[in-house]
Amino acid sequence: MNAIEYDDDQELTRYVWNYLTSRMTSFERRVRHAIIGREKLAKLNAPPEYPLYASWGRTDEAEVNTALADGHEVYRRRVCMRVLVDCTDIVVNRCPRCERVLRTPLARQCLWCGFDWHAASS
Ligand SMILES: [Zn+2]
Repeated sequence: MNAIEYDDDQELTRYVWNYLTSRMTSFERRVRHAIIGREKLAKLNAPPEYPLYASWGRTDEAEVNTALADGHEVYRRRVCMRVLVDCTDIVVNRCPRCERVLRTPLARQCLWCGFDWHAASS
């Protein structure tokens, strides 16, 4: 098994993208859904002219396409950093031992260093 390199920006992006959608604007959420739709269809090897690209992937919405001009990953990072900068009350769930970003907001075990504090009273 290969050790996975820890990348704080990447983990923060994943965390915000999956768990802090309520802090995104309605447009950011719309583009997020478009990304999910496009990636789902790409995974199914759907041809670009497949009609669901327009409804799921919003490929006919100019402002969505403009937002994604630099690619999905760049958009994801941009939105997640915007959320973290603007929402100063957000507390990211980090490991008390190694400080790395945890899998979920309620995680009580670190998949990076193995620390587990389920038994600790809170
Ligand atoms: Zn840890």
